[in-house]
Amino acid sequence: MLLGVSRDIMIVPFSRYRFNERRICGVLNTIVTALILFYTLSLTQPLPNLDDVLAQRLAAVPSGSPSYFREVGRSADDISAIIYAEVVDRATDLPYPGVIDWIIGINQNGTWRVFLPGDAGYTDAQNDLTPNVLLAADSSPYKPFADPTYYPDTPYHLPFEDGAYGTVVRSYNRHGAGAIDLDLNGGAITAAKDGVIIYAGDIYDLNAYSTGAWWYWNVIIILHAPFEYSLYGHIEAGSIPDWIKAGCTDDLSAPNCYVPVRAGDVIAVEGNSGYSRAPHLHVEFGQAYAIAAYMDTADYDRDGIRIEPIYSAFVYREQNVAISGYSAGEVADWRRGKLVQAVHDPLPANNRTVIGNGDFTGGTASWTPSGWINWQVSSGVMRATRLISSEQPDWGGFFQPLSGGVWANTTFDINVRLGNDSGINKTVRIGLVNGADGVWEQIEIPAFAPLQPHNFALTVPDSWAEPRLMITVNPADSSPAALIDDISVIQRP
Ligand SMILES: [Zn+2]
Repeated sequence: MLLGVSRDIMIVPFSRYRFNERRICGVLNTIVTALILFYTLSLTQPLPNLDDVLAQRLAAVPSGSPSYFREVGRSADDISAIIYAEVVDRATDLPYPGVIDWIIGINQNGTWRVFLPGDAGYTDAQNDLTPNVLLAADSSPYKPFADPTYYPDTPYHLPFEDGAYGTVVRSYNRHGAGAIDLDLNGGAITAAKDGVIIYAGDIYDLNAYSTGAWWYWNVIIILHAPFEYSLYGHIEAGSIPDWIKAGCTDDLSAPNCYVPVRAGDVIAVEGNSGYSRAPHLHVEFGQAYAIAAYMDTADYDRDGIRIEPIYSAFVYREQNVAISGYSAGEVADWRRGKLVQAVHDPLPANNRTVIGNGDFTGGTASWTPSGWINWQVSSGVMRATRLISSEQPDWGGFFQPLSGGVWANTTFDINVRLGNDSGINKTVRIGLVNGADGVWEQIEIPAFAPLQPHNFALTVPDSWAEPRLMITVNPADSSPAALIDDISVIQRP
């Protein structure tokens, strides 16, 4: 342990000690001085420093490797280091654009060890980084930034099937600009926006998590507009559908597809290929893409050859984009564990009500009772009362599914006439609900109140695939009757 401490650090406590207490502790001072001399003399062979070990390790990269690393900066302390490195194409001596790998240095008992991505033990070495080095870790200054003049003018859909849920693992703020990890529970991946698939590969079935080879390996890249690309990574081997593969070649060293797709088309299945801790979808939004060659040291393509270059693609100049009604800033803030639901067919904002039979001229048609409700339509007016019961559920009401999904932050203007045909004050709640989620307006109706118009707005906070309009009546008194009529629900543009 003591050998691991540099001479500089040994001198600091010694000096402080002597400065504070030299009159009292002259003897101890002498002992400490002797110890310092002993350790100084014992370091007859100075241990190699980080730079020496790094240079040795970089020099050991085989000359047949299609690329090599070039340091551009580092975050380091005496115990650990992150060396930021460009990946340079050996054929051209040019770095792959937008790629900064982390080389990890760990000082174990005075001996520096250096781990390149792809080395055994790389991921474990990352776990040994000291907290202050990890906190300072930031490759972004070395990467090209997105050009803000090319911000996409239409938003993206969540990249999985209509109505399906994904769990946020890391969003922009945790993963870096334009990159999101989503757990789809083994589900299908869909195109996030209309576009053309220009690159697609699903031949790799190896996971590279332990070795830190940062590739997603199996990727699809879609071109949406000039300077606008999305990437879907880690996808399951062999999961790209035949109709897409029919428009692609097997040559992953170049753009290999031209396949138009629509938002919501299934393009692959979530997988665990490449640098992935567990099955998930890595989706990324960028303004450019490139293809890089890597040494196939682990035979990722399973052709038995480990001294060949293999290829995968990536996007760069990443930017945070808006998705399914969430602003780019809201997506950036998504917490780990947040459930998000994909909606590919949102209701149109066409100034028409999205509710059928809102005036009850069709009786209870289009409406479904729920809970402890006594309901009937007479003279075109709904009369509803919550029945007394101690059993679940603890509501009485009725609902109607809207005729399509809604994206986050959609506001609906709701108009309704409410009255009360009883001597007991009634509470009517009108809400938009989706599963366990809901936004509600609560209205108190005095005893014997005639039908009166009520107008309010409800804003749906999240992307909801199966929204319903729900109306409940309280208290549970079996006393006739709340009066409800002329409901309209109009999406605000
Ligand atoms: Zn990711």
